[in-house]
Amino acid sequence: MRCPKEETELTAGQMIPGLPTQDCPDCGGAWIAATDYKRWQAERTNPDAVPAPKVLPSSLETDFQPAPLDGRAGLCPECGYYLVRARINLSKVPFYVERCRSCEGIWCDRGEWPILEQLGIDTHIGSIFLPERQAQLRRLETAARERQATVEKLGPEIANRIFELAALLEAHPQGDFGVAYLMRHLQK
Ligand SMILES: [Zn+2]
Ligand SMILES: [Zn+2]
Repeated sequence: MRCPKEETELTAGQMIPGLPTQDCPDCGGAWIAATDYKRWQAERTNPDAVPAPKVLPSSLETDFQPAPLDGRAGLCPECGYYLVRARINLSKVPFYVERCRSCEGIWCDRGEWPILEQLGIDTHIGSIFLPERQAQLRRLETAARERQATVEKLGPEIANRIFELAALLEAHPQGDFGVAYLMRHLQK
């Protein structure tokens, strides 16, 4: 079996306990066969009950850099079909997870699995390839970027007070009066 990104032969490894993988010694990527993934997944979760992904941009690894070959299109090491990519933009740097449409095996470039774990996506990788799920992820990504920008511009203290206030106003039946007050004040 060869690495989808280059000619290197994959070797048996174990990216995480209980989940056998075929690893590329050159690029550090890992291939997860569909049967292995499904067995691992069934031990942990109900594959049909997809939880909402977590958005924890501040707690995510900050030194993660996508593998240089992350953007390169690849072929399935098992059956030769093109791998389909799903963009993950919830960490500071976006990256792609790849999956074979035919055999449903999964390719993770180096460093991607720990981020999927932190986002709570590791047990439901198949779901991120569904169109409705991609739309949900995009909304979360936009919200995460908005929060990140607010923290960067105003500092964490003020930003957190704004987030609290936004949640309070959102939950209040007359919350729009608070929004109108702020708008009027700030438009001066
Ligand atoms: Zn490789
Ligand atoms: Zn395949």
